[in-house]
Amino acid sequence: MTTSIYPDIAQAIARLPAWVAVDLGAIRRNMARLHAHAGVPLVAMVKADAYGLGLLPVARALGATFEPDQPAAGALWALGIATLDEARQLRAAQCTARILCVVPLLPSELAEAHALRVRPALHRASDIVAWRAMGGGPWHLSVDTGMSRAGARWDEMITIAAPFAEVITAHPPEGMFTHFHSADVDTAAFAEQAQRFVAVRNALATVLPDKLLTHTDNSAALARHHGSPGALARPGLALYGAGTVAEHALENVVHVRARIVDTREVLAGESVSYRATWTAAATRRIATIPVGYADGYRVAFSNRGEVLIAGRRCAVVGRVTMDMTMIDVTDVPCEVGDVVTLFGNEGDAQLSLDEIARRSGLLSYELLIGLKLRLPRLYFGEA
Ligand SMILES: *Cc1c(COP(=O)(O)O)cnc(C)c1O
Repeated sequence: MTTSIYPDIAQAIARLPAWVAVDLGAIRRNMARLHAHAGVPLVAMVKADAYGLGLLPVARALGATFEPDQPAAGALWALGIATLDEARQLRAAQCTARILCVVPLLPSELAEAHALRVRPALHRASDIVAWRAMGGGPWHLSVDTGMSRAGARWDEMITIAAPFAEVITAHPPEGMFTHFHSADVDTAAFAEQAQRFVAVRNALATVLPDKLLTHTDNSAALARHHGSPGALARPGLALYGAGTVAEHALENVVHVRARIVDTREVLAGESVSYRATWTAAATRRIATIPVGYADGYRVAFSNRGEVLIAGRRCAVVGRVTMDMTMIDVTDVPCEVGDVVTLFGNEGDAQLSLDEIARRSGLLSYELLIGLKLRLPRLYFGEA
């Protein structure tokens, strides 16, 4: 995986066999749409190298500040991360934005988190005491309302024991959050988790600050209502072009393209690729593109995927291999060197992340993150 911002993107593209074009302008516009929809500032999730798209360029596109005196942009409240290494990379690049780590840190990581000015998600009394002892600073109380992944159990928070209440009173959190497990599918569970979160907030009203910054919504939760109920919202995937948020269509951010490197006629009865899972019914013209599962173009697209050539759809035939994929171009005139779009837009035609996920039965999340593997990333659409 190479990350390059070529001085001349057209020149770079002219000599590349395959690449991921990341539209930073589309990320910025998706951010503005989500902000307008949520009605509250955002913790923009940039964990996992910004879902595989590149932490630093994406953080800049989201409005993160990289100058000491630069004022923060309106929509961005903080960058959301999952590991301290992500904070190290941001601070090494002089990023001055607030950073919230949503994954519990080990007690042994707290000192570095403090040095990196990370806002940790805490819920164990011993960690809150340790955090305060090393100089404190803002932290967020993590509440488990049913995801059973991280944070304090909601029911145990409601019957909060006196020693824990004292710890919170001594060093109150800046924020409090929870995470939904089925915001994209199950309404009853979503409502139940939201109610549990409110119940915790009410039960702790006497020990929590009045200006507590609550936040619950990931992308799927934001899509459910106009205006987030919290003080902040935490979208990730939607920033990168998956899903829709009410009337706000989210733009494709990622465009995966490759050039045809070979073509052949395959005769009736002949097969294509490993294990001969596709056989030509009549003479077909097959093109080969130099992208396979080592580039994140997954085996699940075998005999199921489609690509675009000059705005027209062509089927993936046979098994996707590690480095190459074959497509049926019988009806589309093309030759070696022509550009094929695997994800994203080509003229007015498009293969959205949602469609690609549906076709392959994979999650948009894993499709995006897989693109980190080998393809060079080119960035365009900066202000
Ligand atoms: C990853 C994550 C998000 C963002 O989720 P999306 O579905 O990508 O919007 C929000 N909050 C937490 C705690 C997360 O781990």
